[in-house]
Amino acid sequence: MTLKTRIIIGIVLFILIVGAGYSAKKVHIPKTSKTSFETENQTTISQDEEMGEIVYKGKFMIPVENFIKVTSKFGGRVDPIKNIKSSHSGIDLVGKIGSNVMCVLDGEITWAGWQNSYGNCVEVKHRKEDGTVFYTFYAHMRNDSLRVTKGQKVVKGQIIGTQGTTGDSTGDHVHFEIRKTDKSKIDPAPYLFEEI
Ligand SMILES: [Zn+2]
Repeated sequence: MTLKTRIIIGIVLFILIVGAGYSAKKVHIPKTSKTSFETENQTTISQDEEMGEIVYKGKFMIPVENFIKVTSKFGGRVDPIKNIKSSHSGIDLVGKIGSNVMCVLDGEITWAGWQNSYGNCVEVKHRKEDGTVFYTFYAHMRNDSLRVTKGQKVVKGQIIGTQGTTGDSTGDHVHFEIRKTDKSKIDPAPYLFEEI
């Protein structure tokens, strides 16, 4: 083999290797980005399922009948309506379509009606043994489904309305909040799902 032939073979091999590398890279890029997208989605779903599967031993009863799962936790998230980062002021609970929404504890109704983004909603005032006042709040209920009025006394498990998707909502669910005396909001999850 002459030197010239070796050089030509070398050049051909070089072009083949680089060319193969380039085409492999071209195929590889979309594949990688798709995989990471899928992984992200799976993570989100599994987190939600994980929450829904927790056996609830909480102090409060689950405020929706036929509870299926938690679709959004309390705290930081990307707002599904405005598509911006925001803080979720409650927990989103999904029951079977048309399920009753129930008050989690004895109390007194402090709001029953429409509030812009919350749709048809109800706020209930409760009193702890030491006298401390706090509130529970239930939002997005069906139109004409509210069964309570302001000032009315209610008991644990009493039906207050029907699960719906009124106000800023992307599907049937109950947005549930716990508000302290000063109306600041805390994570309801431990009260619904954990022994505390
Ligand atoms: Zn919500």
